[in-house]
This record gives sequence, C-alpha cells and structure tokens, in this order.
Amino acid sequence: MKFGTKAIHAGIEPDPTTGAIMTPIYQTSTYVQESPGKHKGYEYARTQNPTRNVLQNNLAALENGKHGICYSSGLGATDAILKLFKPGDEIIASNDLYGGTYRIMVRVFQEFGLKFNFVDLSDGTKLEAAITPATKMVWIETPTNPLLRLVDIVAIAAITKQHGIQLVVDNTFASPYLQNPLDLGADIVMHSVTKYLGGHSDTVMGAIVLNDDETAQRLAFIQNACGAVPGPQDCFLVLRGIKTLHVRMQRHCENAQKVAEYLQQHPKVSQVHYPGLPSHIGHELAKKQMRGFGGMLSFELKGDSMPEAVRVMESFEVFSLGESLGGVESLCTHPASMTHASIPKEERIKNGLKDTLIRLSVGIEDVEDLIQDLERAID
Ligand SMILES: *Cc1c(COP(=O)(O)O)cnc(C)c1O
Repeated sequence: MKFGTKAIHAGIEPDPTTGAIMTPIYQTSTYVQESPGKHKGYEYARTQNPTRNVLQNNLAALENGKHGICYSSGLGATDAILKLFKPGDEIIASNDLYGGTYRIMVRVFQEFGLKFNFVDLSDGTKLEAAITPATKMVWIETPTNPLLRLVDIVAIAAITKQHGIQLVVDNTFASPYLQNPLDLGADIVMHSVTKYLGGHSDTVMGAIVLNDDETAQRLAFIQNACGAVPGPQDCFLVLRGIKTLHVRMQRHCENAQKVAEYLQQHPKVSQVHYPGLPSHIGHELAKKQMRGFGGMLSFELKGDSMPEAVRVMESFEVFSLGESLGGVESLCTHPASMTHASIPKEERIKNGLKDTLIRLSVGIEDVEDLIQDLERAID
C-alpha cells in the first residue's frame, strides 16, 4: 500500500457491530468480564483501549514498523524510552535537541543515574570518539529546531549497529510522510503526535514505533505500568487528523518552499534556513533521506535588533505568535526569547541562534496571503 492509502486505511476496519466507517471513541474505563479473567481481550482502559489500538496500528504502518505505542505526550514517549535504561547506562544525544528532551534528560533522568553526553552529531565523526562500553543508545533529531539542520541517519545507524547500540530518531519535524527512520537503519522512531500527525493544534500526544518485539513489549509494559496513556477522544482526533496527513504535508512543503524563496530574495533578510533551498547546508542530504523538505523554516533579519524581530512578529496578521508547530495554521516563534531563552546569549549566538532569528511553521493557507503577510510585516 502507498502512503496516502495507508494513512486512511491501515489498521482501520469498519466497526463490527454497526459498520460505522469511523473508529468509535470507546469512552470507557473498564470492560465487563463474563467470569473472572474471561473477557474479550480488554480489562481496564489504561492497559487496552480499542480506539487507541487502532491508532497504534495505523502509526506503525505509517512508519513501516511492527509496533506502535502511544503516550499522553511526546515527552511521555521520551520518558518511556529513557526508562528502558539503568543507572550507569550512557546515552549520547545530539547537542541540538528539542528543549524539553534536553530537560527531561538532564533534570530528571540524570538525577536517577543515567549518563548523558551531548555531542555534535551533524556527521558521524564525533560519535565514534564518544562511544564507551557503557553507551546504550544514541538519540538524534532531524531536521533540527530551529535551524533545520540535517543529521545523516544512515551514517549514524552504521556506527550504532557496529557497536550494538540502539538509535532513536525523533521524527516530529519530518513526519512519516517525508521520512521513515526505521527504513534508514534506526531502531526506534519517536513522535510528538501533537504536531504534524495530529495536525490541527487540538491534541497533545506522543508515539513510538519500532520493530524489535522484546523492546516493544517493555515499552508497552511501561505504558501500562507508568500510566502516561492518551485518552480515547484524543486518539480519535489523531486518527481523523492522519487521514489527511499526506495532503496536508504536500501543501506544507509547497507553501514553505515558496515562502523560503520569497524571504531569500528579501532585502531585509540576511539568511533563510530551509532544507529545500540549494544554499542550505543540508540540502543534498535532505534530498537523499527525505521525500520533501517540510513545512518548517527560520530566517534572520539583517542587523542585530531584537526589538525589530519582535516588531515584525507583532505585525503579522495571518501568522500567529505561538509555540508548537505542524498545525494547519501558520505560526511564528522567536527562539531567542521563547524556546531557547534559558540558553546564555553567548552560547546561543555561538550555536547560530541570533536575536533576529524568526521560526515559521508554515501552514496550509493560501500561500499568497502568507507572503503578503510577511511583506507587510517585514517592511
Ligand atoms: C513538541 C516536540 C516534542 C515534545 O512533544 P510534546 O507532545 O510537546 O510532549 C519533542 N520533540 C520535538 C521535535 C517537538 O517538536
């Protein structure tokens, strides 16, 4: 089955009792048993829920994996993966992670004795040197936030395989429509379903997809034992969102490409970070490991004026100022004062996060209106 057909049909059967084409919302906490232990495979809704099962199977199909497991947020999924490890185990993560991922690693799991080493993983050269006998896992994100840098999944996977360690890829920015890390050699793919998969800015959810039966069993055990499960209503919303994932992603990509090209020739813009531009450092790699360049981009205004960047964002009428991404509506954020404000300015600038950097989540509105909004605001 091709992607669009899978998005709409994989794992989804009409309801056996009524024929309802849409998966019912099984809003129940428990299931009646005939006699103790004799039941239809459902006992208690933290452990199993039919709406959630359908979504999990659909997500597994989209990532070409065997097992899908959903959690109450992207960080709930990350939490479950980190609980696979024991004190003393070492995890190498890229030094360019989503802030919440960095926070749960350093502020929560480091306290419990897991060791983290944050390394520049833009290519594999520094990874080899960082691996020790205690290294159990490598964690990457690609494209990264907010500079849309690419990490070579095949190259990193070749190294992790050789050393017998697991590779996790946070695939939130690309979505399974544009990139399937398991096919490129990753062991686990993680999603903030909140973003493109849900796609309508109405749900918070996370997911993991993987092939290994034993690890999947452990992750499902953690899902039930620790309890970070999504509710059936949210599972329904995401199932509905996914039915248009391929159509939405096509438009996100088209719009972002046009917006990036518009910004690139703007006299007040000094740099545009978008993998679809031939000038972008990750363009060739993106062509190799992705099927399109996505809906996220960032750009810098000329000069060094934070108030000017703020003024531009306050002037937008179509782009809304807000965190998150991947919804149908266009959003903008200011990394220096919002998502990356806790990083000291010097460190931030060293990592390429200037005060005039604006990140856009390009939505699926008419692109003429988006470009007009930018033109009016930047002017
Ligand atoms: C949002 C996000 C997360 C965290 O997911 P939540 O659903 O907000 O918990 C993790 N990684 C990336 C890349 C994200 O954008």
